[in-house]
Amino acid sequence: MRYAIISDIHANLAALEAVLNHMGPVDSIWCLGDIVGYGPDPNECVELVRQKAQVCIPGNHDWACCGKIDTVDFNPAAAAACRWTQRQLLAHNRDYLAALPLTHLEDEFTLAHGSPLDPIWEYIASIRSARENFAGFHTHYCFVGHTHVPIIFLEEPGSLPRIRVISPQQGQPFPLGESRLIINPGSVGQPRDGNPAASYMILDLAANVVEYYRVPYDIERTQAKMLTAGLPPQLIMRLTYGW
Ligand code: ZN
Repeated sequence: MRYAIISDIHANLAALEAVLNHMGPVDSIWCLGDIVGYGPDPNECVELVRQKAQVCIPGNHDWACCGKIDTVDFNPAAAAACRWTQRQLLAHNRDYLAALPLTHLEDEFTLAHGSPLDPIWEYIASIRSARENFAGFHTHYCFVGHTHVPIIFLEEPGSLPRIRVISPQQGQPFPLGESRLIINPGSVGQPRDGNPAASYMILDLAANVVEYYRVPYDIERTQAKMLTAGLPPQLIMRLTYGW
């Protein structure tokens, strides 16, 4: 079975289409949330995810844009983009986002947007937060998004487990083995690791590996739509740099 793991699309249709084309046939697509927010195509992205993804969980931007949480903790640009998205979202797409289950369990995999302990808000961006969260799920593996940075945390077996941090490399499939893992596939629609190409992963259970991919897409197409929509300039600019 081949699964595509996508996250943090952020209403960037050009990036989502590029990733869907790149992955080819898969048995299932798992989406880790933040389908909307920041970008210019919220309805198109929700509709494409509904059509293509068998599993989807919500992110903080999805909940904010459908009114389930407020934006007091958002920076001003994110809050402005959220208000714009709220005006654009069609009722059936808003209802879809509002009804998504907070987490998802499938065999040896836990899926959460931020972290298993705090699925909407927590960033797993340090060894400390990874260590706390390894105790927060009971499957062998956990997929998260939210930081927009592709990364793998590995818990070495033992009574005093050590956490290793691994930067996934394109063209070097990462083996699934004895160690428990927290895996972040990076962001489709707003990468923040200095590489502007869309990021995603393939989970290949026949080969027992995770494969990591970066896919160039038409960034200027997305930026032109953001400009027309009047979205904040810094959100337009950051797509050029992947930051
Ligand atoms: Zn996000």
